[in-house]
Amino acid sequence: MFHVKQNFYEVVVLGGGHAGVEAASAAARIGAKTALITFSKNDLGAMSCNPAMGGLGKGHLIREIDALGGIIGKACDMSGIQFRILNKTKGEAVQGPRAQIDRDKYKKVIPGLLKNLTIFEDEIEEIHLEKKIKRVKAVKLRTYGNLNCQSLIVTTGTFLNGLIHCGEKSWSAGRLGARASTKLANFFLEEKFVIRRLKTGTPPRLLGKSINFRKCIEQKGDSCPVPFSFLTTGLKLKQKSCFITKTNESTHEIIRSNIDKSPMYNGKIKSKGPRYCPSIEDKVQRFKDRTSHQIFLEPETKVGDVIYPNGISTAMPPKVQKEFLRSINGLEEVEILKDGYAIEYDTIDSKELKNTYESLKVEGLYLAGQINGSTGYEEAAGQGLLAGINAANKVLTKKNFILERSDAYLGVLTSDLMKGGLIEPYRMFTSRAEYRLTLRADNADYRLTDKAMKLGLACDERSKKWIKKKKALETGIELLKKNFATPHKIKANGLDINEDGKKRSAYEVLGYNKSNWDLISLIWPNLKNLNISENEKEQLRITAFYDKYVERQTAEIKELKKESELKFKKNFNARHCAGLSNEVKDILLKNSPKTLGEASSLPGMTPS
Ligand code: FAD
Repeated sequence: MFHVKQNFYEVVVLGGGHAGVEAASAAARIGAKTALITFSKNDLGAMSCNPAMGGLGKGHLIREIDALGGIIGKACDMSGIQFRILNKTKGEAVQGPRAQIDRDKYKKVIPGLLKNLTIFEDEIEEIHLEKKIKRVKAVKLRTYGNLNCQSLIVTTGTFLNGLIHCGEKSWSAGRLGARASTKLANFFLEEKFVIRRLKTGTPPRLLGKSINFRKCIEQKGDSCPVPFSFLTTGLKLKQKSCFITKTNESTHEIIRSNIDKSPMYNGKIKSKGPRYCPSIEDKVQRFKDRTSHQIFLEPETKVGDVIYPNGISTAMPPKVQKEFLRSINGLEEVEILKDGYAIEYDTIDSKELKNTYESLKVEGLYLAGQINGSTGYEEAAGQGLLAGINAANKVLTKKNFILERSDAYLGVLTSDLMKGGLIEPYRMFTSRAEYRLTLRADNADYRLTDKAMKLGLACDERSKKWIKKKKALETGIELLKKNFATPHKIKANGLDINEDGKKRSAYEVLGYNKSNWDLISLIWPNLKNLNISENEKEQLRITAFYDKYVERQTAEIKELKKESELKFKKNFNARHCAGLSNEVKDILLKNSPKTLGEASSLPGMTPS
């Protein structure tokens, strides 16, 4: 990071959250003269809500950002305190790497990963445009004054006109303890952007030593933790456990009898929050027949002094929060360190954007992260990376960088967001990706690191490591495809296959469900001592397994496209359609599309 502050930057990034740091880091790596402006240096990489990264769909995003040279994966590996692969018993396509993160450590490592850029601790209050055409010219900082720039990336997160609610109280804030960005909101009003108000919430933070963990169920991490970054060779921090408890009928009774005190139920909050992450008052009201809801007690730091109770975000008054918490097993004497709260904030309809994240109205203005209606650190980081690449390239090479839905979850994210019209915060799920058999977390480098190298995003270490791995995989596949055996020989070595007389290649055999490298060495002793690592061998096995499904996937997608002209029956009622999520049913009911094609282009629609 260089600190000599100047008055002109090719790329200015507003915000040091997950979108901001990824955007600034990408622009600087490509070679643009970059500045990042954020309210406080303490904001760099701050995790406003849960102390965890990754999961299904989200873990895929982290791997892809890493494969493109981003920083989120490395930061997670340096600060993770519990690593787990979710859905481990299912196929790799739906497995998601996830980690509990030491929130303080994460904030400490992020600045060290930001190279060759200047950081201003300040507030951007105004955006200035050129007079004749709507093109970004400069930004006005509250204390430093004007900074001229060619590209500006705005990543305000929950700060734009942010309003916190907790019980009867409401106050202007970007998140707890931080000022909101209010002056900047005028720019979007004056330029007539479509502004939508969204909402999210967070649970209270608990004092670790006031919890009786012996009354809860322990949840350990994986015994062989797997890192996020393709560059990480070993994970250094000691792994911590999480614990599970649950609400009960008396918890629900306390919430029900105080429901009029929740700003979500007494009419104070009108905007929509993420349905798949409801507050505890929502859960109690919506799922009346449920007698309990699970709570994961997650450590926020490696010492475990602060605990995040995942599953009970709330905006009830502090007194009610304490009362319902103390009705829960293990939390009878719990002390609250910070109260839970909800926050409403301004977002800009992402229909206003090109698929490069540049505004359609104002040239050189890019928007990324929560401001586009998404929720989540990983979704923000992904958009930040793509906006950072495009904003820098606009100045340096004039070339756009766009990922398609078939390239990456990052492509799915972009194409979904650009449909616009989001009525609730958008988060990634594996079900949103129709190409999910090929878009796996394990092969993100295979799909994206060549592109990173072409763009100048990959450091030397990443390029060297990838070139070596790619060569090993290609040589391995070539060799496996050259060696054949009869079904009789394969069966004689223990794999139950159809004796149809057709010879199978070692690649095909490795791809069978119950196959492994021991079997390959038994059938083909010449393949026993291949010069590749255990990780590369495992990658070859996964690739061979999924290769046979790719054709089926392509055929299904073709069929889906062909069917886009199909009309819905007049009396079609999505509510009765089994296999669709409630989110999708609501979208269909609200929009009444006439054809499958129309339905599939609706904001929030999933391929299923
Ligand atoms: P942020 O991380 O919010 O970063 C915004 C940055 O912009 C900050 O650095 C701020 O200083 C800076 N900034 C803003 N305005 C200005 C300005 N004018 N000048 C200079 N700097 C400025 N995500 C989930 O996935 N699940 C959840 O359940 C969830 N709950 C949440 C609950 C709460 C209460 C909050 C606050 C957030 C929650 N989130 C949740 C959202 C998560 O924090 C965000 O998705 C993620 O941090 C968004 O990243 P971002 O980079 O877009 O914005």
